[in-house]
Amino acid sequence: MTTAFLDVDVHGNDDLTPHGVVSVHHYGIGRSTAACSCGWNGRRRHLMAAAEQDAWVHAMHARCAVSSPLVLG
Ligand SMILES: [Zn+2]
Repeated sequence: MTTAFLDVDVHGNDDLTPHGVVSVHHYGIGRSTAACSCGWNGRRRHLMAAAEQDAWVHAMHARCAVSSPLVLG
């Protein structure tokens, strides 16, 4: 196991932040990033699965929705 689940950039003002829709953007081999319309951005990940995990964790923490399909581009 890694600590990826705990490696989350948590906002301090979630109650004031409009809830958004989070999706994963795939920029090519080894370059995937989760981003949300609420303004949150995940780290660049080598594995798309890791970026997807970032997206799910963000959605749970910030109560944002998950895009369908999750992966764009
Ligand atoms: Zn969000």
